[in-house]
Amino acid sequence: MVNSTNPETLALHGGSHRADPSTGSVAVPIHQTTSFQFQDTGHAARLFGLSELGNIYTRIMNPTCDALETRIAAIEGGVAALAVGSGQAATSFCVLNLCSAGDNIVSSTDLYGGTWNLFANTLKQFGVEVRFVDPADPEGFARATDSRTRCYYAETLPNPKLQVFPIAEVAAIGRRLGVPLIMDNTAAPIICKPLALGAAIVMHSTTKFIGGHGTSIGGIVVDGGNFDWEAGGNRFPTLNQPDPSYHGAVWTQAAKPLGPIAYILRMRTCLLRDMGAAMSPFNAFMFLQGLETLPLRMERHCANALKVAAFLASHPKVTKVIHPSVQAGEAKRRADAALHGGYGSLMGFEMAGGAEAGARFIDSLKMLYHVANIGDARSLAIHPATTTHSQLSVEEQLATGVTPGYVRLSIGIEHVEDIIADIAQALEAA
Ligand SMILES: *Cc1c(COP(=O)(O)O)cnc(C)c1O
Repeated sequence: MVNSTNPETLALHGGSHRADPSTGSVAVPIHQTTSFQFQDTGHAARLFGLSELGNIYTRIMNPTCDALETRIAAIEGGVAALAVGSGQAATSFCVLNLCSAGDNIVSSTDLYGGTWNLFANTLKQFGVEVRFVDPADPEGFARATDSRTRCYYAETLPNPKLQVFPIAEVAAIGRRLGVPLIMDNTAAPIICKPLALGAAIVMHSTTKFIGGHGTSIGGIVVDGGNFDWEAGGNRFPTLNQPDPSYHGAVWTQAAKPLGPIAYILRMRTCLLRDMGAAMSPFNAFMFLQGLETLPLRMERHCANALKVAAFLASHPKVTKVIHPSVQAGEAKRRADAALHGGYGSLMGFEMAGGAEAGARFIDSLKMLYHVANIGDARSLAIHPATTTHSQLSVEEQLATGVTPGYVRLSIGIEHVEDIIADIAQALEAA
């Protein structure tokens, strides 16, 4: 295995795959199979008993998915990972791995819309309460914590406000109180390492930057291996109490011979087994392709975004630009503390002409795609007030940071002059 901590190298060589042992294949093979032949009955029994790790059935593990999991774990600086069918499945599993009915989590208010719905509505069905706190005040997380609080949850670089979350501050509060911080790092792969800042768990929608080419839906959860699930009395019964669904296994004990992987082991052996949101081997292959050039693409995404933000800031029709590079004060300090090598490729801007001007801008674009996606190699644009946020009232839209004239951009890796030229002509027409 290659001994490096550099993401450029790990994206190509990190994790379990070297050459395929049976064929010598350098590219990770797509193991498009449901099941795997056992060597004998003893081997089968050891696999089911977890005394030996190995492939049983693709709902629970697959060698192509394993190559992706171990590679992303290496890049994030974690100890193990679990690939699942979507980013939404990853978030659901992150919470359900710790919570039972009657428990609660504390979440930042600044969330992806799908996560917001899951937290505000669907988790209620399972008796799990989500307490929302404003990330401007990290101590709000401490105040909202009680003995049934199982985790904190936030996004590194949440749009539309694009104010970096105080990862180190809230992780430290959580470690003081015995509560793990789970970070959604979808918008800032490579440029942010939440585990190094004290987070316990990182998840991604691999659909976005990791895939990078808008072809596949997927998600991944990375276990930092840096959190003591046995401390804190009875805060983590799903991990440190006997599990009746696995003949009384205590996951913190069962994981001991394998490493500090109790959290992700339980997610695989129980949640993935029972809820079944597995990633397909084909999609894992697509994400491995995206991952190989991710560090290089992020450099260009960030460099292009910096120039587009400067262009927009100087344009007479633009009243406001939302991007960490043009922030000031505490927001900028947080961005500089958490991001390295760039401020990301997501950006927003507002036009004096309000909603009508925003819609005209979108309809006038010739190269940028008008889609509800981010993180594609192509540049993308959307008008949230009439699309992603149209179910909210105007007051709710304003509370989330969406003004009527707000336009969201996800800056791609085309030549920056062509991106700016398309934006410039659409602004003229708006
Ligand atoms: C897209 C996205 C998700 C959900 O991911 P899917 O793969 O679409 O299920 C979660 N969080 C963030 C920040 C996202 O951008």
